[in-house]
Amino acid sequence: GNRYESTAAASDSSSQAPPPPPPAEKFEYQAEVSRLMDLIVNSLYSNKEVFLRELISNASDALDKLRYLSVTNPELSKDAADLDIRIYADKENGVITLTDSGIGMTREELVDCLGKIAQSGTAKFLKSLKDNKDAGGDNNLIGQFGVGFYSAFLVADRVTVSTKSPKSDKQYVWEGEEGSSSYTIKEETDPQLIIPRGTRITLHLKPDDKGFADPERVQKLVKNYSQFVSFPIYTWQEKG
Ligand code: ADP
Ligand code: MG
Repeated sequence: GNRYESTAAASDSSSQAPPPPPPAEKFEYQAEVSRLMDLIVNSLYSNKEVFLRELISNASDALDKLRYLSVTNPELSKDAADLDIRIYADKENGVITLTDSGIGMTREELVDCLGKIAQSGTAKFLKSLKDNKDAGGDNNLIGQFGVGFYSAFLVADRVTVSTKSPKSDKQYVWEGEEGSSSYTIKEETDPQLIIPRGTRITLHLKPDDKGFADPERVQKLVKNYSQFVSFPIYTWQEKG
């Protein structure tokens, strides 16, 4: 009697280990997004390196937003000093990681920003592609437009975005694969990957594009494309 009762009580007790986090949830992209991803990959294949400019530009925007909000929000301003962008190149595994300490995204914002097309840059890109085609098509022009986040799939077959907004207690991971019509979102549970604020994007490079995971090459691209970014950009070599 007694023994059974105490066992039952223990299994209900809140002092036990917390329940496992909910599994990853699957979402379908808005149809336009799938179309856009195809278009990007098919029209910019000779201009692949624009992915880095796009990701740095998003990181810079996120840092700008954080800095702007921290003017009126003292809670944010206390860590406003370390506004930077860090790029790790892991040559051996063909992985590039780009981390910013910017505004991050809530779970809802992940769905709205990385699952739908509501963004000015991407809308412009779609229009430019259409106008371009109507005019006979010059693919080199396309690279001049902000093609946005999905350009990550120019070089990566799998992309994860782990992100923490000051508006949310939790950090979330978005994951997408090239050619898939769906993506997943789950809670970040790896204690080693928890960040206080901001976004970490991990690019698992395609076999033919692993050469981008080279700190010198990354540094060169940063110099060419992102020289007017007003936050420090650090490029590091991942230690093997
Ligand atoms: P655009 O930059 O023109 O808005 P993108 O496709 O580049 O379009 O990005 C889509 C949206 O995803 C951004 O507007 C932003 O809300 C969100 N986003 C992308 N990268 C980040 C980031 N590093 N930090 C916070 N939000 C981001
Ligand atoms: Mg952008």
